[in-house]
Amino acid sequence: MDLSPAHNQSLEDLDRENIFHPFTLPSEHMAHGPKIMVKGQGVRLTDNHGTVYLDGLAGLWCVNAGYGRQEIVDAIAKQAALLPYYHSFASMGTEPGVYTADTVRRMVPGNMARVLFGCSGSDANDTQVKLAWYYNNLKGRPQKKKIIARDRAYHGVTVASGSLTGLPTVHKAFDLPLPQVVRVRCPHFYREAEAGESEEAFADRLAAELEATIEAEGADTIAAFIAEPVMGAGGVIVPPKGYFEKVQKILKANDILFIADEVICGFGRLGTPFGSDYFGIVPDMISVAKGITSGYQPLSAVIVCEEVWSTILESSDYLGTFGHGYTYTNHPIACAAANANIELMEREKLFDNAATAGAHFHAALHSRLGDHPAVGEIRGVGLMGAVELVADRATKRSFEPAAGIAKKVQADALARGLILRPMMNDSLAFSPPLCLTTTEADEIVDILAASIEANM
Ligand code: PLP
Repeated sequence: MDLSPAHNQSLEDLDRENIFHPFTLPSEHMAHGPKIMVKGQGVRLTDNHGTVYLDGLAGLWCVNAGYGRQEIVDAIAKQAALLPYYHSFASMGTEPGVYTADTVRRMVPGNMARVLFGCSGSDANDTQVKLAWYYNNLKGRPQKKKIIARDRAYHGVTVASGSLTGLPTVHKAFDLPLPQVVRVRCPHFYREAEAGESEEAFADRLAAELEATIEAEGADTIAAFIAEPVMGAGGVIVPPKGYFEKVQKILKANDILFIADEVICGFGRLGTPFGSDYFGIVPDMISVAKGITSGYQPLSAVIVCEEVWSTILESSDYLGTFGHGYTYTNHPIACAAANANIELMEREKLFDNAATAGAHFHAALHSRLGDHPAVGEIRGVGLMGAVELVADRATKRSFEPAAGIAKKVQADALARGLILRPMMNDSLAFSPPLCLTTTEADEIVDILAASIEANM
């Protein structure tokens, strides 16, 4: 059998013949895909035809440190040569894993006790569901199992994390969600507030709805509430002022765990170390991935508070082995990448840059597009944001879905050398690397404004 690559075919043909693309319309891909990136530097990518793009989304919200960071590459190479793999089952360990866990546990908000590594945001949130169930079983409350998640949330795609996700595409024809998931309203003031309602009154209403849901389901049946500090894939939704404060009070009163999904917000995206820092959330459990390595290696982590850890520790004498974990838990190369990445982001103060470049970026968006008749809302925090397009600003009426306006603007921006992401309700999301300069921020705004104009 000849297994050498078929170099007589184009990369695009080989891709179409072989690759099953995630979150892609298969028929469209076969007609128009793929676009293949071959290298990156700073905030820019180059495709296999030599075209250069400004990556307005940092890959998938993850290349926080930017492309081509030699320190991370060197750390990966050094660890691969020293020890490319060892596991951590049955008390075994790896050196980089110990250091990453120590750094991450001390960095995150709350009184956190232990770190459990995985490979993706989805597996982290799957682990969260299992840990919330495990914890309540150990506490002698086997009926306390439901998880509250929000409409338009994105927590991943595995059976459990996909069930937590509140987007129809992740459920449709997959027989999801699981029946243990209870859904509450998305905290999007622009779309969900009633006429004349203030932001504070909206937050009060969301809190009252959460309380009513808990009462209807029974607090003794609910294990946890999961939330992204700022929702990402649901359209970059920033909650109304006071929302998390009110939510936390209700959860505490009902003995429900708060799981903060920091997969996007964690590691500086909002200009603070974690999204929970920005909103004053004190979570019981935290999921991180993406920015922990800036995408240079696949790595995720679940961080649990003292109460959850001590319950597990105390029960181990009669329960026996903790039966969960992965072949690649504590992967030494991924953890070496994380250590180099976190060190680099600290040294270059990239979290601070996300705040200052982010403020410049939002100001530029508002000054260029704030009065545009097709721009309904400009939203975001730090270097995470979205622009929502509407057919009528006064009534907030959306464009006809068939018009595919956000996709058209995205394709136009791509042709002008900018990568953005179209999302539901005709929003265009951005989340560039945290090393973005104000000049690069202006470049994104210029191209976006031109692309919106060209499609109106
Ligand atoms: N949680 C959040 C907030 C995310 O944005 C994502 C991915 O975008 C996930 C979880 C799932 O992560 P992964 O794609 O690594 O499984």
